[in-house]
Amino acid sequence: MTNKNHAWFERACRVLPGGVNSPVRAFGAVGGEPPFVVSGAGPYMYDVDENRYIDLMGSWGPQILGHAHPDIERRLERTLKLGTSFGACNPLEVELAELVCKFVPSVEMVRMTSSGTEATMAAIRLARAATGRALIVKFEGCFHGHSDPLLQSAGSGVATFNLPDALGIPGAISALTKQVPFNDPEAVRELFAEHGEEIAAVILEPVAANMGVVPPNEGFLEALRSVCDEHGALLIFDEVLTGFRVDLGGYQAVSGVTPDLTCMGKVIGGGLPVGAFGGRRELMQQIAPAGGVYHAGTLSGNPLAMAAGIGTLETLAANNGAAYTHLNRLADKLDAHLAKTFAEAGIPARVQRARSLLTVYFTEPDKPVTNFAEAKATDTAFFARYFQAMLAEGVYLPPSNFEAWFLSTAHDDEVLHQICVAHDRALERLS
Ligand SMILES: *Cc1c(COP(=O)(O)O)cnc(C)c1O
Repeated sequence: MTNKNHAWFERACRVLPGGVNSPVRAFGAVGGEPPFVVSGAGPYMYDVDENRYIDLMGSWGPQILGHAHPDIERRLERTLKLGTSFGACNPLEVELAELVCKFVPSVEMVRMTSSGTEATMAAIRLARAATGRALIVKFEGCFHGHSDPLLQSAGSGVATFNLPDALGIPGAISALTKQVPFNDPEAVRELFAEHGEEIAAVILEPVAANMGVVPPNEGFLEALRSVCDEHGALLIFDEVLTGFRVDLGGYQAVSGVTPDLTCMGKVIGGGLPVGAFGGRRELMQQIAPAGGVYHAGTLSGNPLAMAAGIGTLETLAANNGAAYTHLNRLADKLDAHLAKTFAEAGIPARVQRARSLLTVYFTEPDKPVTNFAEAKATDTAFFARYFQAMLAEGVYLPPSNFEAWFLSTAHDDEVLHQICVAHDRALERLS
C-alpha cells in the first residue's frame, strides 16, 4: 500500500476543521485516518492509494443505484451541456416534482431545497405558521439535519462524537423543542396533556436510522397520528433517509400512516445536493410566493440535481419497483449471514432492519433496541473493532454504530458473497 492517503489527510487538516466537511467522515468513533476516495463504480469505491472497497455507506443514502450509474451519467452529461444553473424556472424541476407527487400520495405539492437540513428547517417554519404555535416535539436520537431547533439529542454525527447539544444555540431557541424517547407514545401524550395548545408539530424519522436502525413499535406511528389530530398539531415525517429507500412511497407507504408534511433528501438527489418538503396543497400553498411563509434557494431546483433525481426515481420505479425486491432480498441474505455467524462465533450481536436498511448492534441478540438510550448502551467499542476489521478486508461500512448500512442495486449476489467472505475473515481477525 502506498501512503498518499496520509499526506492528503494532513493537507486536509490544515484547511478543513478536523480534515472534513461533515463530522462523521472523520472516523472519530472508529479510529484511524479516513480514506480519501477518488472514484466509485457500481458497488465499489477506490481511494488515493488504489485500494478498492465494497461500499456499504452509499454516500450515507443517496447512492441507491451504486456509483456512476450509466443512466444517471447520461442524463447529467446531457443536462450539463445546456448549462449548470439559470436561477430561472426550468422544466426539470417540474418533472421531478410531478414524480414525487405521483409516488408519495400525501405530497400534493413540493418545494425543492439543496439539502435535507433545509427541508426540515422549512417544514418546521411552515408548521409553526400554519398552526400559529411555537413548540416542536422531537425524539431523542432522531437526526433532522443541523438547524438550531432540531440539533438536540440528535443522532448521526452528534451521537457519534457525543457532542453537547447546546453549543452556539441560545437557550431561548432550545426551549421551543421538547424531546421524548422514540417508541414512547405515553411520553408524547403526557407532553400534549401539558402543552397541547402550544405544540405546532411532532417531527420524526418514521424509522429512526441515525442511531443505528430502530423501527417504530407496532402502533407507535398510529398513536402519534391520533394525538396530533386530537390537539391540532401537524405530524411531520422526516423521510430524508427512508424516502425512496424503503419503498417508492417512503415509510408512510409501508406503515400506512400518513403525515401532514414530508421531508425528503438523499435518494431524491441521486448523489447531487437536493432536499424537498411537501404535503397537502392547502398547507404548501402557504409557502411564498403562493403564501407568506418564506423559503428560497439560489440553487433550489438546480437542473443538474433535478436530472439526477429524475433518473434515480424513474430507475427505481421501473419494472414495478423490482429494485426494491432486489434490495430487500440482498438485505435478507446479509442479515441471515451476519446473525448466524455472530452467533456461531459467540459474539452477542443483533441485526435490526427496516426493509433494506440494516445495522448491527453489539448487544444481546434477542433484546430489541427500541430507543436512543438502548442504542447508546450497546457495545460501540466492539463496533469500532469490527469496523476496522471489515475495512481491512475491503468493506467500507459507515464509520459509526449510529448509522444504517446502505445496499445499492449495483450490489448483486456475487458482491454480497464477497461481503460475507470479508465478514467471516473479519471475525477471524477479531477472535
Ligand atoms: C441526512 C439526514 C438529514 C440531513 O440531510 P442533509 O442533506 O445532510 O442536510 C435530515 N434528516 C434525516 C433523517 C437524515 O438522515
